[in-house]
Amino acid sequence: TSSARQAYAQPAPTAPAFVGNKTGGNFNVTLIPGDGIGPEISESIKAIFSTAKVPISWEEVDVTPTIVDGVSTIPADAIASIKKNTVALKGPLATPIGKGHVSLNLTLRRTFNLYANVRPCRSIEGYKTPYDGVDSVIIRENTEGEYSGIEHEIVDGVVQSIKLITHQASERVARYAFEYASKNGRPHVTAVHKAPIMKMSDGMFLRACRELAAEYPEVKYDEDLLDRVCLRIVQNPAPYADRVMVMPNLYGDILSDMCAGLIGGLGLTPSGNIGRDASIFEAVHGSAPDIAGKGFANPTALLLSGIMMLRHMGLMEHAAKIESAALTTIAEGKFITRDLGGKASTSEYTEEILKRL
Ligand code: NAD
Repeated sequence: TSSARQAYAQPAPTAPAFVGNKTGGNFNVTLIPGDGIGPEISESIKAIFSTAKVPISWEEVDVTPTIVDGVSTIPADAIASIKKNTVALKGPLATPIGKGHVSLNLTLRRTFNLYANVRPCRSIEGYKTPYDGVDSVIIRENTEGEYSGIEHEIVDGVVQSIKLITHQASERVARYAFEYASKNGRPHVTAVHKAPIMKMSDGMFLRACRELAAEYPEVKYDEDLLDRVCLRIVQNPAPYADRVMVMPNLYGDILSDMCAGLIGGLGLTPSGNIGRDASIFEAVHGSAPDIAGKGFANPTALLLSGIMMLRHMGLMEHAAKIESAALTTIAEGKFITRDLGGKASTSEYTEEILKRL
């Protein structure tokens, strides 16, 4: 209906250029250290960025939720900081279990309309996995699909969960995928779908992708079935190394973890949540409560997320310098953390990166 269309309508979908908020020549960036290992790995990133002379000033905020009327909410200061700076680096947040607690990650996603979840997975030299040369980029629609949260038990024993797809959300994530492809030297976009089954919903998603493809004639566009991509990428990831794959929410969630598995797990995978009002970068892993406070967490995923953030901000040279220092440290293999089979503590690994900057 037109009212449903209106309810989900968002302002015109564009991939806004980063402007940011500067004080005295430095960009202000909100830092949410997070829970568990979050503070330890955030310290490492702060040390690396400082030695690399990245022109940013951290604005550190606490997002410990306050309970208002039995519902957890993110402190207003944290929201205001992200709103003002339009860019944040976020450590993992433990999702509280229990009534009245919404996931803070989900709240941030909704508050800032973070519509595109970008998840690159690249093989890391020096860390042995079944394949070398994995280099996939998944762009996942981040606001609707199966995550719309609309579920009902229609009659006893029968539940209906709504997969919601709108043309506007599909179009804005597709636009981001084409922009990303053309700006990042990956001139090939593949839309991943199950349209033969989800004829109307995935059909609409594909229609939005095709419309965008017409606007970007320099980018090669094709479509592939989710199950076929899963089968092929685990058999041979090489053909996926030149392209950007864009897809509805749930497919992106699952396929990106599968790609993370191809490069050795979640400890090395960064992500960006790109929004209309702000963008938030974070590691894919959680707060690792089992190793928190012990000093041997691997900060690489958060560091790579910080590097994605620098590229988003246009700080390309700083991004390249830090990336090269971290990757050569891992490739050399003398000072790597336990999860990668080494013995180094978080600070020994960090020190080694600092020496290379
Ligand atoms: P997890 O990712 O925290 O941990 C899984 C395993 O990987 C653990 O054995 C952990 O020690 C290890 N690990 C994770 N990151 C590591 C690192 N950087 N270095 C070394 N080892 C690392 O997943 P989980 O245990 O299922 O979740 C713990 C908490 O994190 C939960 O409260 C969950 O809700 C939350 N979580 C948050 C986010 C986020 O903020 N985006 C994402 C996932 C999970």
